Amino acid sequence: MSSATEAPGSSAEHPLRIAVVGSGPAGFYAVEALTRLCPHVEISLIERLPVPFGLVRYGVAPDHPKLKQTAVVFDQLAQSGPVRFFGHVTVGQDVSVDELRDTHHAVIFTCGAESDRALGVPGESLPGSHTATEFVGWYNGHPDYRDHHFDLSQEVAVVIGQGNVAADVARILLKPVDALRQTDIAAHALDALAASRVREVHVIGRRGPAQAKFTHKELRELGELPGCAARVDAAPLSLGSACEAELADKHNEGAARNVAIFRSWAARPAGDEHRALHWHFLASPAALLGDTRVTGLRLNRNRLEGAPGAQTAVATASQFDLPCGLVFRSIGYRGRALPGIPFDNGRGTFANTDGRITGNPGLYAAGWIKRGPSGIIGTNRADALATVEALMADLPTLPAEPKPGAAALQALLTQRGVRTTSYPDWLRIDACERQQGEALGKPREKLTRLTDLLAALD
Ligand code: NAP
Repeated sequence: MSSATEAPGSSAEHPLRIAVVGSGPAGFYAVEALTRLCPHVEISLIERLPVPFGLVRYGVAPDHPKLKQTAVVFDQLAQSGPVRFFGHVTVGQDVSVDELRDTHHAVIFTCGAESDRALGVPGESLPGSHTATEFVGWYNGHPDYRDHHFDLSQEVAVVIGQGNVAADVARILLKPVDALRQTDIAAHALDALAASRVREVHVIGRRGPAQAKFTHKELRELGELPGCAARVDAAPLSLGSACEAELADKHNEGAARNVAIFRSWAARPAGDEHRALHWHFLASPAALLGDTRVTGLRLNRNRLEGAPGAQTAVATASQFDLPCGLVFRSIGYRGRALPGIPFDNGRGTFANTDGRITGNPGLYAAGWIKRGPSGIIGTNRADALATVEALMADLPTLPAEPKPGAAALQALLTQRGVRTTSYPDWLRIDACERQQGEALGKPREKLTRLTDLLAALD
């Protein structure tokens, strides 16, 4: 018999009932940690879209299929663990945070960083200027970006930022389209890229080559694109003493490898490639130029200031203009605020300490909404585990009474006429996408509109 004094999770009769909001990597790693640390747990896994996996499905580039393999592990967790998937449910709209709190012992937010940092310069929202989120979502078939238009009749594009997302954007723009045909890239993007006239992509870093945030594997790939030259001037590769000190730091091995890659490109003889990737360092956007659409970018020339490991870009009085017809801003993601949850505006995360949301006992965060948009998919495993450990340490302070969990959540959603999707529904969508892809030699052909995803279940 369960009793109200028994701690939740201590017996099968009195399970710990947790709502996890977001079914991307951090959400699934939270599920994994919960099932590992608590023998009697039941999890309601809530997702805004009708389908699971978040960034694994909609963020990882289609030509990097190995990075999507974590979905296999997530699938096993969903099918074998004490998890009930609630797809197509928006927290704050279909169900409130308070309702989740009332029906579960605790709530873990793993809703990622769905929006972008802003540059804050004039012209940022001119037609032809896009966020990386929009472009990545578009080629990955994310329903929110399905109908975005990118004017790929332009010959010159600029990518602002020097992280792995910028690398993905530049690579998808410049890769021969035939190399994408057998990936799970969305059909609408493949068609548009097949007709693309983009020949030159300029990648802009506000700091120097030693501070670029690419992982060297992703950077190296950009020098191996068929028919595309990687062009970098030798001058910015001659580094000052602070940069050399950074490269000598054994904890900064990636930066030394990146600089070696840039240097090898600078030494390459010019070829007859028809496409080119140009690298710019120590340059920050001052304005996007154009009246009715983007026609160029005005850049400040920067210098570095500060101690090794903490050098920042400082604008000099010098500027230059770069004509271009497309701009992709890839300067980092930001979490979206949710009414009722304290938000750290500076970091773009839910305000929290070690995953405990500030001033809200019983509410937790893991993944990018907790620490900001950094690291690779696997980084979220330790991050989610740390949050779940905090939750387990807090068990004596969580409500002791039994909570109805998924059953009550389902009842609320049914009463409101919310059309939810279940994990078996996802398996049907998955089968349908794989079948459609098979005919085209692709691993899957994604359904890219909400209506199509839901219609596949009718
Ligand atoms: P990121 O790695 O943080 O890179 C952001 C870039 O934007 C940096 O070069 C940064 O420069 C620059 N930036 C920021 N604010 C700027 C401003 N106001 N003006 C000009 N430049 C500015 O972010 P990300 O590329 O979005 O990637 C997010 C995370 O996902 C990273 O951890 C990344 O490794 C990961 N990811 C991994 C893969 C993969 O493993 N293949 C693929 C995609 C993404 P500063 O350095 O000067 O701040």
